Amino acid sequence: MTFTVASLGSGSQGNAFLVESDTARVLIDAGFSGVKLARRLESLDVEPRSINIVVVTHEHRDHTAGIGVGARRWGWQLAMTPATRDACTPLLRGKESWQILCDTGISVADLKIEPIPTSHDAVDPMAIIIEHAPSGLRIGIATDLGRPTTPVRNALRECSFLILEANHDERMLRESSYPWGVKQRIGGSGGHLSNGLAANLAAELAHPKLGGILLAHLSHECNNPDLAYDRVAEGLVSTSFSGILAVAGQNKPSKRFDVCELVRARTNGPQLSLFT
Ligand SMILES: [Zn+2]
Ligand SMILES: [Zn+2]
Repeated sequence: MTFTVASLGSGSQGNAFLVESDTARVLIDAGFSGVKLARRLESLDVEPRSINIVVVTHEHRDHTAGIGVGARRWGWQLAMTPATRDACTPLLRGKESWQILCDTGISVADLKIEPIPTSHDAVDPMAIIIEHAPSGLRIGIATDLGRPTTPVRNALRECSFLILEANHDERMLRESSYPWGVKQRIGGSGGHLSNGLAANLAAELAHPKLGGILLAHLSHECNNPDLAYDRVAEGLVSTSFSGILAVAGQNKPSKRFDVCELVRARTNGPQLSLFT
């Protein structure tokens, strides 16, 4: 039984996550050029035309840069809310096939995809829960979070694998050369989640069968992978978490995380080491 997730790259220069089952291939966001998307999918042995649907979380270009070209070149169906569709008009020529990402979610073969509204400065931003019908397992993807609201936290609590934003180190942001207004925006409730808030959220969501956490959307200027990893690992030490903790890079795809296998290892097998 297949239920996997991989990052094609994550950060302010582009975001896309690939979720696969035995019968479906879904992208959550496609924020890279067509050339980069094709190259990164190929590196995971994925033919771009085999993608069934692209779920668009919000209109910011680091999530949408490749949706128009993907829809036209490879026939990708797009799923987004009507407000996000309107905000993406400059990227589209009107002939792309799209469907409404409604509150109750959409089904793609054996996957159910549900949007959860988030706090972020876009017109209709969403976190995404993907449920795999054959196993009942869920992946939660929540980047671009100003703050983790109660509905987002409740939805993520039930997941077996999490992709969580760890955008910036608070001190690095404070001491950065960004103008005051930009610092306020990034750190504010319509901006991005700091390492500290990500650590608190991860600790709150940790449970013994949580297979893994992939930290994503790291700021190039105000964070680095070691800082984000260490801060969140520290937050997880006193919890029941025994899954893997990893950090998504901006410039290359991650490995494929096999969610069924990760959960099986926590349920039956010997405990894997905390940080691999
Ligand atoms: Zn973003
Ligand atoms: Zn955004």
